[in-house]
Amino acid sequence: MFIRPDRHNSYERWKPKDDVMVEECGVFGIFMDDRRYDPAEAAYLGLYALQHRGQESAGIAVADGRDVKFHKGMGLCSEVFKDNLGKILGGNISIGHVRYSTTGDSKADNAQPLVMSYRGGKLALAHNGNLINSSILREKLEDEGAIFQTTLDTEVMASLIARQSRHGILKAITAMMKVVRGSYALVIMTQEELIAVRDPLGIRPLALGKLDNSYVVASESCAFDAIDAEFVRDVRPGEILVINKDGLKSYQAQSSMKTALCVFEYVYFARPDSDIDGISVYRSRENMGIKLAQAFPIEADLVSDVPDSATPAASGYAAESGVPYAKALAKNRYVGRTFIQPSQALRERGVKLKLNAMKRNVHGKRLVLIDDSIVRGTTSRKIVEMLRLAGAREVHMMISSPPVICPCFFGIDTPSHDQLIGSKNSVEEIRRIIGADTLNYLSIEDLLKTVEGAGCNFCAGCFNGNYPVDMKEALKETEALDLATIE
Ligand code: AMP
Repeated sequence: MFIRPDRHNSYERWKPKDDVMVEECGVFGIFMDDRRYDPAEAAYLGLYALQHRGQESAGIAVADGRDVKFHKGMGLCSEVFKDNLGKILGGNISIGHVRYSTTGDSKADNAQPLVMSYRGGKLALAHNGNLINSSILREKLEDEGAIFQTTLDTEVMASLIARQSRHGILKAITAMMKVVRGSYALVIMTQEELIAVRDPLGIRPLALGKLDNSYVVASESCAFDAIDAEFVRDVRPGEILVINKDGLKSYQAQSSMKTALCVFEYVYFARPDSDIDGISVYRSRENMGIKLAQAFPIEADLVSDVPDSATPAASGYAAESGVPYAKALAKNRYVGRTFIQPSQALRERGVKLKLNAMKRNVHGKRLVLIDDSIVRGTTSRKIVEMLRLAGAREVHMMISSPPVICPCFFGIDTPSHDQLIGSKNSVEEIRRIIGADTLNYLSIEDLLKTVEGAGCNFCAGCFNGNYPVDMKEALKETEALDLATIE
């Protein structure tokens, strides 16, 4: 949700060389109709379940019909709310956010929810996604006199909503949706209402659940399980849900012929116990393993996973191939995701801290090792080295997705082209760099088969460079836009 505040981001300066900093996040919101949970406590539990989507900062805002209070800070939910949940108890609506920024601007000002005053009272927003035209919009808003307190594109959305608020919140959100381009799964809270919005392409997931008579929205359905809520359905691309004391109303603010849910949610990002747009994340990963076994049968003694995101794929591979599954790597559960480390040296050390070879399992064995993706190549190289030192006879690396060849501009942290090992090397070159005996990737066709039957189409831009938004066109359009004409 953050774009470098480059004030003159014409396409030439901005184009996908990528100095864009992207964050992955999780959002949650609940409108309580009874006292089964305190809304802040429900949000806390929901965010805890979404912690894998962001470990850098966390925040909760609560409304009680008259006012909005909030607490947010840097760190995990447990750290941020250790002594602070008591301050925001009460009320009947809450929204929450966990944020995962990977480079630079990791500061408290950028923690969410954003809470601001506007002519309708108080407005709180929590956003997962990434706008591609926010710098231009920000500049236009600044030319009109707007002042920004953060570098978040979420604040650009808030400002666009606020400037149309004389028409009512629903129209204001609809007007905002007409000008922003990119991905947004958004939860918004006024003093009296909870509002959920998913971008017209449905790039980031957003689901609706119910707990007795209370409605809940979250990035992933696993957050509903945390509070015993039931999954109702996914929020539709382009849909606005307004939830208040009269119940839930749905408005289809925009409809697009195509949808483009991020396929990387299934590959790596989402939790395996979530269902997204009708597809179980676990099942899709298991199918990725089955497809790998069908495409690349290999004589081996055991199949194993890089824990945890590749575990379902390894189980699928084992079932399909008949090669027994055994653990080759033990994971230290107390080390965060290795991507978070700011330098290459720390990233390499991070892999070693996080994963260790199970010597007794791998010694003298021919091993098929499955990981969900290779991004920079750091993890695979270290792991292959570790397994060889532990006595593995052969290491056959299988990746349950295609080579990541392009950066993502829509909310997943993939680095710039020059850091993506798949962008400048052939599969054979990558095999040599990581030191594996063989290396095979799932084809994009097979990957898309594992999510067949979903209620949407997919963005696989990181694997094929085909982005769902014509970025050049979107930026040109935004540059030509006169905000005064937007209603
Ligand atoms: P790398 O070492 O850069 O090749 O990273 C690949 C490893 O990071 C794999 O084990 C993935 O499970 C994991 N991974 C892939 N994408 C991401 C991401 N966006 N954020 C954090 N970890 C990731």
